[in-house]
Amino acid sequence: MSFVSGLLRFRPRSRDLPCQVVVEMVTDYLEGALPAAERRRFEAHLAGCPHCTEYLAQMRETIRLAGRITPEDLTPQMRADFTDLYRHWRSES
Ligand SMILES: [Zn+2]
Repeated sequence: MSFVSGLLRFRPRSRDLPCQVVVEMVTDYLEGALPAAERRRFEAHLAGCPHCTEYLAQMRETIRLAGRITPEDLTPQMRADFTDLYRHWRSES
């Protein structure tokens, strides 16, 4: 099973935060700006979601390379890739 088909087989659990919300929380999480309750939900989602875990890893790498994070670092390509995947899940479910 390829990595991509593995992703597409995965279904986020509905009681969790939607992946799009989690993605939008990543920068706050990395900056330590999330309230404790949100942080717990974020981490709970990550524990069961390989996509967001990967996204977080990408963001960490981006920050490591850039030394900081700016809105420009959230490249349109990264967001577009993730949004496409998210749409695919929704269209199948
Ligand atoms: Zn997710």
